Amino acid sequence: MRSGLPDFRLGAVLATSFTGTLSERHGDAVERIPTPQRLVDWLSVYDLTVDSCTTTQLELARELRESIHAAATAAATREPLPAGAVQVINDCSTRGRAAATLTPEGKRQWQLGPASPLDDALSVIAADAISIIAGERDGRLALCASPTCQAAFFDTSRSRTRRWCDMNTCGNRQKKARFNANRSKDPS
Ligand SMILES: [Zn+2]
Repeated sequence: MRSGLPDFRLGAVLATSFTGTLSERHGDAVERIPTPQRLVDWLSVYDLTVDSCTTTQLELARELRESIHAAATAAATREPLPAGAVQVINDCSTRGRAAATLTPEGKRQWQLGPASPLDDALSVIAADAISIIAGERDGRLALCASPTCQAAFFDTSRSRTRRWCDMNTCGNRQKKARFNANRSKDPS
């Protein structure tokens, strides 16, 4: 935790890590990008470096985030995709001018344009969400089994049987709850 603001939960998949910046949507929700600067911080973790962010841009980012969450949830439960969410994702994806570049070490690096780097960063996230929701990547969209979370996550485990968005948070809490329930059943 830095300056009293909630920590990030960082995952390997860009789009679902982004939707994870709001956690416990069905419980006591935790907003992990409460200020424009925290969005800048979050983006820099994923090598999407922007200098600044306005309040309006933060609102747009959150709108994209909730749209990805809604569309990914629908895809995970095989419901029709919500049209409004699809529109927001597509708008964000087409607005950006990010270009993929190759580093000398053979890694992909996104180059954001000078005009509106934040829009470009959001377009990278939107495109990542599209590739997952469209089923282009090896994995399965699923919802976290924690009733207060229900976050959409991308399961890339070999068996495709992951139950929690994050083993260290939701998975652990569930394990502890089961442990305590068993202990209280035992009179000794
Ligand atoms: Zn979860």
